[in-house]
Amino acid sequence: MLLVVILAAVIWGVGAAMGRSRESRLKLLGVLLGAVIGVNLLLPDGHPLREATGATAAPWLLLTGFVLLVFGYGWGVKYLRGRSAAVQDTPIPQSGSFSETELNRYARHIVLREVGGAGQKALKNAKVLVVGAGGLGAPVLQYLAAAGVGTIGVIDDDVVDNANLQRQVIHKDRNIGMPKVFSAQAELEAQNPFVTVHPYNRRLDDDIAATLIAEYDIVLDGTDNFDTRYLVNRACVAAGVPLVSGALSQWEGQLSVFDPAKGAPCYQCVFPQAPAAHLAPSCAQAGVIGPLPGVIGSMMAVEAIKVITGAGAPLRGQMVMYDALYGENRVIGVSKRDDCPVCGTPS
Ligand SMILES: [Zn+2]
Repeated sequence: MLLVVILAAVIWGVGAAMGRSRESRLKLLGVLLGAVIGVNLLLPDGHPLREATGATAAPWLLLTGFVLLVFGYGWGVKYLRGRSAAVQDTPIPQSGSFSETELNRYARHIVLREVGGAGQKALKNAKVLVVGAGGLGAPVLQYLAAAGVGTIGVIDDDVVDNANLQRQVIHKDRNIGMPKVFSAQAELEAQNPFVTVHPYNRRLDDDIAATLIAEYDIVLDGTDNFDTRYLVNRACVAAGVPLVSGALSQWEGQLSVFDPAKGAPCYQCVFPQAPAAHLAPSCAQAGVIGPLPGVIGSMMAVEAIKVITGAGAPLRGQMVMYDALYGENRVIGVSKRDDCPVCGTPS
């Protein structure tokens, strides 16, 4: 018996001295116990080794049962704790309440004086529609989801194309040929399981614009065609929903918050009519530097967060213009037009 105790102590001490983990030393003790039981079961009565290890296997078998019981209980408790943690981590459907994981995730927002717990709650309760899941839509969607905007709608009828991937970083090579809204949805849900994404795999047209936009608190438009821009603007003005709008060309980008309900102009006040096609070529025709949509789209996401949380002064009545080629920024004032056919007061 004493021999076994000494052997066990030696295994434990030498293992510790060699820097072996507690777990690996426990395993070695298990092997020793197994060997002792083997000796007592297999060797004949009176064998010196059997005499030295207790002469009978019974106490060792009892010890084995006891150890298994203790470890089994420990593992069981650990498993149940893991399960309840996993349950706690799943998004909580009640609006405005946060799980521990969410509080931890949004901690850098919550410590900001301008956002705080109330602002983060407003983000969680917000419903944001993103028109276009392309160059500007990519960073807009990614940052809004990461920031914890609770409900994100995305509408686009396009599929992921190889030539999109130079700048539309939300889409991956493996998703070429997939509708953009589904490719985007998968990325957003992978990034933040606490947000709900509504994909609309269709073009925004007159049939649905008014109904769809009225369901959301704020709209971000990053499309590259003027018909859609004017349509989005009309529907936003009609529903009294603020519109964060951005545009790009080659090395230049611009953005503004169009919000006539708060005294700011609408898109049509600033751009009364679409420019001739040759004056406003698309990205496909004119080219665009890859990170530019990232710059402007990220600024659009910032504006949306400011509008939702009430932080700072959103770009209402102001337009930021960024020239990437020379690293220059300009902010110009833009005004509401009384004779605007969309938001003007009818005379
Ligand atoms: Zn207007």
